[in-house]
Amino acid sequence: MNKATLAVCRNIVETGRLLLQSKLVEGVWGNISARAGKKGLIAITPSGRGYATLCYKDICVIDAEGKPQKNSLTPSSELPLHIAVYSARQDVKAIIHTHSIYASAFAVAGQPILSVVEDMAQIVGGQVDVSEYALPGTASLAANAVNALAGKNAVLLKNHGLVACGRNLTEALTVALIAEKTARIFLYAKQLNAGINGITAEDIKILRDFYLDKYSRQQLVRD
Ligand code: 13P
Ligand code: ZN
Repeated sequence: MNKATLAVCRNIVETGRLLLQSKLVEGVWGNISARAGKKGLIAITPSGRGYATLCYKDICVIDAEGKPQKNSLTPSSELPLHIAVYSARQDVKAIIHTHSIYASAFAVAGQPILSVVEDMAQIVGGQVDVSEYALPGTASLAANAVNALAGKNAVLLKNHGLVACGRNLTEALTVALIAEKTARIFLYAKQLNAGINGITAEDIKILRDFYLDKYSRQQLVRD
């Protein structure tokens, strides 16, 4: 494994610890991946393994044809989902899938998380839509998710959870956190019985462009 791929594997392990700390995952569910080097390699968490005890050697490295490198543990069952997103979106370099509570509440209700706050509009680029239901790990789940993701950075999997994307693992983690926070805010605001409007499409575009051109450049790109 070359130095760059090794660094990505270490970063995935660290991201897993942060997911645990921020309570976005429970038990072994969820998965993390990132593009690893120039040859189309993808590094992804192994299936069914807890984040607390993961070591960089446990991270599976998959070649451009979707085949794991030899001696690899079994890669995440959601590998087809990760591969489908990377194929559809060249700008996406890292993906985090969680079963986080507030986002999953919207996934269960089949309702999008509206872009009701500024940070969400900036980093996700609009509301988080709900993809059509399909069983975990299937090609249908992957296709439905890519469809509903469109050009944004997050999508809800019906009756399942959230998929967050980013230009690196730090950004994908922030997307997952902001989507979860927005779902929570939106739920509380609904309880206040106010008429809730999302930010308009016109303003979302202004906020997103500001984030991409200026704001994210202050602190992004750790990996
Ligand atoms: P893996 O442990 O195989 O990554 O699957 C967890 C999950 O969230 C399935 O949707
Ligand atoms: Zn899942």
